[in-house]
Amino acid sequence: SKILVTGITGFIAAHVAEQLLAAGFRVRGTVRSLAKAEHLKQRFASYGDKVEFTVVEDLEKDGGFDEAVKGVAGIAHVASPFHYKVEDPWKDLINPAVRGTLSLLEAAAATEGIHRVVITSSFAAIAHPAAPGYKFTEEDWNNWALKEVEEKGKDVAPAVAYRASKAEAERKTWTFVKERKPKFDVVTINPVFVFGPIITDVPSPDAIPTSVGLLYKYLAGEHKSIDAGSPSNAFVDVRDVAKAHVEALVRPEAGGQRFLTSAGTLSWQEVADILRELYPDRPIPKGNPGKIRNGDETIVYGERANKVLGIDFIQLKQSVKDTAEILVQLEKKW
Ligand code: NDP
Repeated sequence: SKILVTGITGFIAAHVAEQLLAAGFRVRGTVRSLAKAEHLKQRFASYGDKVEFTVVEDLEKDGGFDEAVKGVAGIAHVASPFHYKVEDPWKDLINPAVRGTLSLLEAAAATEGIHRVVITSSFAAIAHPAAPGYKFTEEDWNNWALKEVEEKGKDVAPAVAYRASKAEAERKTWTFVKERKPKFDVVTINPVFVFGPIITDVPSPDAIPTSVGLLYKYLAGEHKSIDAGSPSNAFVDVRDVAKAHVEALVRPEAGGQRFLTSAGTLSWQEVADILRELYPDRPIPKGNPGKIRNGDETIVYGERANKVLGIDFIQLKQSVKDTAEILVQLEKKW
């Protein structure tokens, strides 16, 4: 059967597509332009006509997904803006995230044959200020970011605007399911910071996926000291996030649930320690080697994803190593 993957040229979506193809599915990917699909076309060449690309230029256009959803059995809706270059939080992040998701759901509801829609939400839709030791689960909701956007308008921090976009898109998703009772069921995947090998085209350093870009700053020696991070910083490898999407599409019991996907706490000290060991010649800050916990951390772990989707999370050391290897290769062509 055929699965639609939206925003297939994205960091996560490309892995979702690759794993679906490897599992024997046909894949239709949406792209903003066919030129952008070239790199993946080559990477997926061995799958022949099992993979196809279709243009959906604008997430916000009414009916934009109507053609793309025809004939598919399931959907992984991954496309959504993730960047911190925000002038207008609504225009740049919230509207495309929310309207894109609703447009996709409308199109899916108007088509026959779709069994399941998996939507890439985020831990951003879960996270809220919490005391040390607090254990985040799928019961938690980010109810604060949108309020902050409404209060501060264009002065809101970009990361808060992004969090609002993800929380609002997911909230509207579950409202859609409740009110419209579509024939398909919905699953959301809620990843924390995603690291791991990039398989899409990265023509220049400013095109590094946002979450990997945070790691690259350490590798590239752009940090003079180590970021304390936030108590709820956590990480997951992109291959596990992709696997969660695939399993969420095929496991009946996943229907109607959200899945926090996290391998555990992220400490930038630990990332720097791993990178210094791998690349001793690079100017990566020392900080306090080995002091990877401050005592204020919360617990952010994908227990449900482990139990229900069977994800045995790749650990930080492996993920950082594999991420850095790809970045070092890419550096040679920049
Ligand atoms: P990317 O930026 O690599 O992927 C984003 C995808 O969405 C790209 O395909 C991009 O298209 C598309 N897109 C973005 N904005 C628009 C727009 N306005 N109109 C049409 N298409 C658009 O990021 P990731 O792969 O990291 O993110 C993918 C999803 O995962 C997002 O929903 C993000 O919120 C979510 N996520 C990511 C996390 C992370 O740490 N990376 C953590 C939690 C959730 P194009 O390729 O043309 O730019």
